[in-house]
Amino acid sequence: MGIGSVKRPVRVAVVGVGVLGACVGWNLSRRGAEVVLIDGGQAGEGVTNWSFSWVNASNKTVCRSYFDLNVAGMAAHRELAGTIGPDSWWYPSGHLRWAGDPAAEAKLLAAVELLTGWGYRAEVCTGAEVRRRLEPAVTVPGDAAVVYYPDEGWVHGRHLVARLVRQAVASGAEHRFGVAVHDIGTGADGSVRDVALSDGSRLDVDIVVNAAGPGAARIAGLVARHLPMRREPGVVTRLDCVKVPVRRAMHAPGIELRPDGDTSVVLHSREVDALIDTGEDPAELARLLHESARHVVPELGDCPIAQTRVVNRPIPADGFPSVGAVPSVPGYYEAVSHSGITLGPVIGRLLAAEILSGERDELLADFRPERLSP
Ligand SMILES: Cc1cc2nc3c(=O)[nH]c(=O)nc-3n(C[C@H](O)[C@H](O)[C@H](O)COP(=O)(O)OP(=O)(O)OC[C@H]3O[C@@H](n4cnc5c(N)ncnc54)[C@H](O)[C@@H]3O)c2cc1C
Repeated sequence: MGIGSVKRPVRVAVVGVGVLGACVGWNLSRRGAEVVLIDGGQAGEGVTNWSFSWVNASNKTVCRSYFDLNVAGMAAHRELAGTIGPDSWWYPSGHLRWAGDPAAEAKLLAAVELLTGWGYRAEVCTGAEVRRRLEPAVTVPGDAAVVYYPDEGWVHGRHLVARLVRQAVASGAEHRFGVAVHDIGTGADGSVRDVALSDGSRLDVDIVVNAAGPGAARIAGLVARHLPMRREPGVVTRLDCVKVPVRRAMHAPGIELRPDGDTSVVLHSREVDALIDTGEDPAELARLLHESARHVVPELGDCPIAQTRVVNRPIPADGFPSVGAVPSVPGYYEAVSHSGITLGPVIGRLLAAEILSGERDELLADFRPERLSP
């Protein structure tokens, strides 16, 4: 951006430092922008820390462009691991999925046919093979069809965010954690000029990136933009384990589970999520998750429940990401998405390119903010 004849780097406030804000901020910072990472809480402690965190495109077949974006997300994770190192955040250990009844199994196998037709790798094994080769502790029936997706994996979201923040700071980014954005100032032409923080300070900026997760509609409202969001809460439970009995993430009937480092396992279930709005106590939801997990991996019965949290998924109303510039507010950009764990690295790279050089990538064509409020 030019000031008279002197060029100065563009100054960007990234509002919200979960996986999306961290990926955008890291990419901007390494490409020479002056970045301020702002989070009302602590970086990586939002939804990113309460996610099933499965990196995949096999669950994203609702439309081809969304599938393609998620495949690009998987590739971007591998590339990111090569650039920043994989330690403690990147677990490309594949994914297992099986069904609980013949109708669900037929649906799963039909999905495999579609996916392999789209060039996605999937192997159909028997339960007995899975126990012998991959997961000895799992009680899958020997003759069940189990799908193995070798290119999928899971991410430790909090560790990924911490690493990206550290590297962004090393390349000059500032951070303000524990202070929320309360206001966004605009100039006479409507373009972004500054942000006001809850500690009373104001920062002059050229660009604001709204990566506030479930708080994104509020941030959008500060520039008089209506960002419609869907309400879809989820509940995640962590178990403490002396020894983690599973090696990879998996979807068993009624329960999803994965390792979460060397001494913890994460549990989630869409069926249990459906009980949140009945007013069920989170401790009871955790008990139900634990009970289902124990049926699939009996050793988990001995692992106590350590933490449970109910959070809102950050989902724009039509279910798809909102990524890119909002033309009616020059300088204001959005990075708001469900599947943000899978998509963080690709959204970070594409949005940084758009901000710094105006390139609008075709991969994002169906996911631009304008579609949500013309
Ligand atoms: C139960 C569940 C399971 C999921 N499973 C998967 C999965 O398997 N795979 C997958 O890819 N995705 C999954 N997701 C989705 C994924 O976790 C999210 O899309 C992703 O974590 C969103 O990251 P984020 O950075 O947008 O949000 P967050 O991590 O919530 O970060 C937003 C940050 O913004 C900050 N903030 C908010 N308002 C303000 C403000 N005014 N000022 C400053 N800071 C502010 C918050 O403090 C927070 O730290 C799941 C989500 C849930 C809930």
